[in-house]
Amino acid sequence: MKVGTFRVDGERKVGLLDADEGHVRPFALDRAAAERGVEALARLQAEGLPLPELGDPVALSDIRVEAPIPRPRRNVFCVGKNYHDHAQEFASSGFDSSAAAGAVPKVPIIFSKVPESVIAAGEAVVMDSSVDPSLDYEVELAVIIGKGGRGITKADALDHVWGYTIVNDVTARDLQGRHSQWLIGKSQDTFCPMGPWAVTADEIDLADTPVLTFVNGEKRQDSNTGLLIFDVPTIIACLSAGITLLPGDVIATGTPAGVGIGFKPPRYMAHGDSVRCEIGGIGALENPIVDRARQADAAD
Ligand code: MG
Repeated sequence: MKVGTFRVDGERKVGLLDADEGHVRPFALDRAAAERGVEALARLQAEGLPLPELGDPVALSDIRVEAPIPRPRRNVFCVGKNYHDHAQEFASSGFDSSAAAGAVPKVPIIFSKVPESVIAAGEAVVMDSSVDPSLDYEVELAVIIGKGGRGITKADALDHVWGYTIVNDVTARDLQGRHSQWLIGKSQDTFCPMGPWAVTADEIDLADTPVLTFVNGEKRQDSNTGLLIFDVPTIIACLSAGITLLPGDVIATGTPAGVGIGFKPPRYMAHGDSVRCEIGGIGALENPIVDRARQADAAD
């Protein structure tokens, strides 16, 4: 099942994408539930409740797609340095404040992005070159938690996954390097593009799902979720050991090699660029890059 959150006639809805991907059929959720986006479905299914009835199909041209969970209830959990090739390129980039502990982490590195950084496919990632001009992209498979829990074992972890979406873990590299905690470099406004769709867990083979990024059509990242250092069950067991996971929590699982700082010299994103993150079975998350100063000039 592939679903999304969208606006139609001024209202937020959650709907099922048809097989032809030309229409969505909205679920008959009450307004408060629909405001939570796809989290509403994750919550119902975690409680073993049936999904609501579906309404009439609406053409994609008549809706505005939002992030599947437009405003998570709390920070998006993220895993750093979770593919071997990216761990090596990042540790040698000069921006890795964790490099002293070794290129490949022995336990998952966990940080987070504030809920307000989430934006939809098609919305602009706004860079502020007066704060940090070194803007980078990171395609990531993101887990959406269904049934919550604490002390979840690896063996049980996948029973707690409702589904998956795409996150671009946009990063201001100078800020990430300057502050030893990564939150500030990862949580700038608009730095968490998410979507456009979410799929239920049965649609993704974690051992073999392609993960790619294109900048202005040029392929930059090309990997596979089978190459994660810490797999999804390990990440869930690690986080839930002392933090109760909740339905609708989002966990971005880390990015492979090919990010801008992996190049010498680095290839950062700039005003006018377009970044397209693709994950097999989910779709493509594409966002333009806009420099705040140029945006302000245009508005004058
Ligand atoms: Mg990342």
